[in-house]
Amino acid sequence: MKEGLDILYALQQKDDQLKEIENIIKEIPLKIKELEDERDSRSDMIEKTKKKLHHNSEARKKLERDIAAIKDKIAKYKEQMKKVTTNKEYQGFSNEIKFEENTITTVEEKIIEKMVESDEIMGMIREAESEFNKIAETYNQQIKDMHSNLEYHKNKLAEETKNKMELRTRVDAKLLKAYDNLYVKKAGKVVSYVQTDFCGVCNIKIRPQVLSEMIISNDVLICESCGRILFKKIVGAGEE
Ligand SMILES: [Zn+2]
Repeated sequence: MKEGLDILYALQQKDDQLKEIENIIKEIPLKIKELEDERDSRSDMIEKTKKKLHHNSEARKKLERDIAAIKDKIAKYKEQMKKVTTNKEYQGFSNEIKFEENTITTVEEKIIEKMVESDEIMGMIREAESEFNKIAETYNQQIKDMHSNLEYHKNKLAEETKNKMELRTRVDAKLLKAYDNLYVKKAGKVVSYVQTDFCGVCNIKIRPQVLSEMIISNDVLICESCGRILFKKIVGAGEE
């Protein structure tokens, strides 16, 4: 029976280890998401500058539409000019046309200003992108490492689950049933490892009588406080 408890304790340790691995597997994707979000937030600067470029392009298009509208107006004036009868009317249209042509020059200057600004913005985008690429490279490497880590732990989980199943076949059937029942009730902590004379889980002092029984008898003893199966390594009965 003592050997049975040994294996039961080994099973408990295996279940503990599996739980740890499962937690790691659950946590890694969250960490990956965090890194991805952090990395992407660093690209905000690029997005802001790209928006600026878009506004610039929209403004230029509007100015070009303005010019087209003015040219239409001039064309109409020229048509009307053909039908005028007095010199005064002719002069009036001529002045209007001159005025509109001057406006076109002003708008064209504005377009050139926008084009210069656009070149500056594109330079800023290139700079922001190169800066971001450097940062992203670091993030991407970290994310890649996390994925490898996740893969490693998934393999580890599969391997250790196999080991656990193998351990389970070595536990006495009744004991295994008790273990499985307690496993649910005691939140996965069934076997309490007693180092000196305290329950390893609830830390209550174990009565000397129970303690000596643990050493001499083969019975399964339960912690009187938390109800877990007590396990004490017997000196000389295996490695420490
Ligand atoms: Zn206890």
